[in-house]
Amino acid sequence: MGRTALEIGANTFQFFTRNPRGGRAKPFDPEDAAALAALMREHSFAPLLAHAPYALNACAADSRVREFAYLVMSEDLETLERLPGNMYVFHPGSHVGQGSGEGIRLIADMLNRILRPEQSTSVLLETMAGRGTEVGGVFEELAQILDRVDASGKMGVCLDTCHIYAAGYDIVNDLDGVLRRFDETVGMVRLRAVHLNDSMTPFGSRKDRHARIGEGFIGAEALVRLINHPELRHMPFFLETPNEPAGYAAEITALRSAYRK
Ligand code: FE
Ligand code: FE
Ligand code: ZN
Repeated sequence: MGRTALEIGANTFQFFTRNPRGGRAKPFDPEDAAALAALMREHSFAPLLAHAPYALNACAADSRVREFAYLVMSEDLETLERLPGNMYVFHPGSHVGQGSGEGIRLIADMLNRILRPEQSTSVLLETMAGRGTEVGGVFEELAQILDRVDASGKMGVCLDTCHIYAAGYDIVNDLDGVLRRFDETVGMVRLRAVHLNDSMTPFGSRKDRHARIGEGFIGAEALVRLINHPELRHMPFFLETPNEPAGYAAEITALRSAYRK
């Protein structure tokens, strides 16, 4: 995966720890990992971002579903320690009618069972579109989870441009205002990564449909402003646009040329 990243002009990448719908992880290959670590050093990669499966729901009503989330995340984080210093992002979950307060409590409880003071991996909450009973569609909910986590120094936030725009944060007309609100609730120091996507559905639609850069309602101009924003320009950016490698390569080239030196 490191080679592919280089081929398309990237200096980091996101990967799923296992099938996005859940299931077993591929066995860890120490030789692969050593080669990847060497390549990352040689090409000054930014930290990698491992993505938890979508099926993980830390705040399900069914305790077996919560236990599954616990097991998957524990195992993923244990594996990631063998490639130290990278990041892990997960969708906070859906409270399925229990209320966001209960959802927040369950998510924080799980994190408190899992996080270890000695771990080198940062665990990131992703900002969500706020569809249905999804937790994390408003910054306040993410802040409340972080407040309840004991080892909160191990935690951060991954901002998804498609999701926050769909959730009703206007990064097209008021990026400064959105970042101010983020800072006042979560705190800018918590921001560790950005998922850079355009949105197939309009502002405030609360739907999660990624579009290619410039092919959605956010538009290329707003996303270029975002990658150049003084508060964001040093972040690692991860594309989650519907693309094949050639499409990613084209987007990376375009974004790099629009990035002010
Ligand atoms: Fe995600
Ligand atoms: Fe995302
Ligand atoms: Zn999404």
